[in-house]
Amino acid sequence: MEQRLPVRFIQVTEVTRLTPHMARITFGGPDLEGFALDAPDQQVKLYFPRPGRSGPRLPGPKDGDGDVMRWYEAYHAIPEDERPWMRSYTIRAHHPGHTTIDIDFVLHDDAGPATRWALAAGPGDTLGMYGPSAYFAKALPLGTTDWMLLAGDEAALPAIGTLVEALPRGARAVAYIEVADAAEEQRFETEGEVTVHWLHRAAARAGHGELLIEAVRAGRFPPGSVFAWLGGEAGAVRALRRHLIEERGIGKRDIDFAGYWRLRLTQDDAPTEEDLAEARERLADAQAGADG
Ligand SMILES: Cc1cc2nc3c(=O)[nH]c(=O)nc-3n(C[C@H](O)[C@H](O)[C@H](O)COP(=O)(O)OP(=O)(O)OC[C@H]3O[C@@H](n4cnc5c(N)ncnc54)[C@H](O)[C@@H]3O)c2cc1C
Repeated sequence: MEQRLPVRFIQVTEVTRLTPHMARITFGGPDLEGFALDAPDQQVKLYFPRPGRSGPRLPGPKDGDGDVMRWYEAYHAIPEDERPWMRSYTIRAHHPGHTTIDIDFVLHDDAGPATRWALAAGPGDTLGMYGPSAYFAKALPLGTTDWMLLAGDEAALPAIGTLVEALPRGARAVAYIEVADAAEEQRFETEGEVTVHWLHRAAARAGHGELLIEAVRAGRFPPGSVFAWLGGEAGAVRALRRHLIEERGIGKRDIDFAGYWRLRLTQDDAPTEEDLAEARERLADAQAGADG
C-alpha cells in the first residue's frame, strides 16, 4: 500500500500579536483538509524557506516510500543553500470548522531564522510542516494523578496552554511559568483547578531559567500522586528534573521533560554531551514504559 508521511505545506492566513513577545500565526490551505489533532502537547517540525524563496523546498509526502528516516535523508540531500531551516513548534489550536491551525511563536532576542520569519510573516506566506507524528506521540496521564505539575518558560507556554485546556473537570494542576514580564502573561480556558505562578525575569533582573528553578525548588507541593511536565531552556529543564527526582522523590516515569532550546546555541548546532545523555535517558524511559 502507498505510504504517505505527514508532510504538508501550510499558508499564513492571519497574524495576531498576543503579547509584546508572542505572535499567534494562523495557517490554512488545502493540505490541512482532513487534518486531525487528538491530544494536547503535539509538536511539529516547521520548515522555513531560505531567503529569496517564496516557500521551502522539501521532499514530498511519498518520498522515502513512507519511511521517515529515508525522508530525512532526502531532506538532508537538498543543497545547504536551498535546504529550509527546521525548527520544532507546538500546535496551539486546531479549528476544524475553518481548516486552520494556530502556532504561537516566541519573538525572542538573538532571533534565529524561525523568529525572523515570524516577525515578518503575512497572509499567503508558506511553511513546510512535518507531523504531528506517531514517532513523538505521547499519552500524558491528564487527570489520573492527584495533581499535575507544569513548569516551563515562554517557549513551553503554547504546550502548557494545550495541557491546561485539556484538563478534565476538577483536575488539579500547579503551573510555574517564567516569562519576561507581566505583559507576557496569558489566560487559559480550563475546566481544571489550576494555580499559575507567573515568574517575571525583568523585575528580578534574572537570567533565563533562574527564577523557574528557584520557584519550583521553593514550592510547597500539594499532597498526593503527581505527574510532572517540564519544558523550556535545556539546562533549566535538566536542573528541574534532577531536583524532582533527587529531592522530591518523584519517579522518573512520572516526569515528562524536554529541552526546548539551548542558551547561546541554535537548533542547527550539534548536540552537546548533555543533550546526548538526555536523549539516552528519554529512550531508556520510553523503553522501560514499553516493557511494562
Ligand atoms: C518539542 C518542542 C516544541 C516547541 N514549541 C515551541 C512553540 O510552540 N513556540 C515557540 O516559540 N518555541 C517552541 N519551541 C522552541 C523553539 O523550537 C526554539 O526556541 C527555536 O530555537 C527557535 O528557533 P530560532 O530560529 O528562532 O532560533 P535559533 O536559530 O534556534 O537560535 C538563535 C538564538 O536564539 C536563542 N533562542 C532560541 N530560542 C529561544 C527562546 N525561546 N528564548 C530565548 N532565546 C532563544 C538561542 O540560544 C540562540 O542563541 C519548541 C521546541 C521543542 C523542542
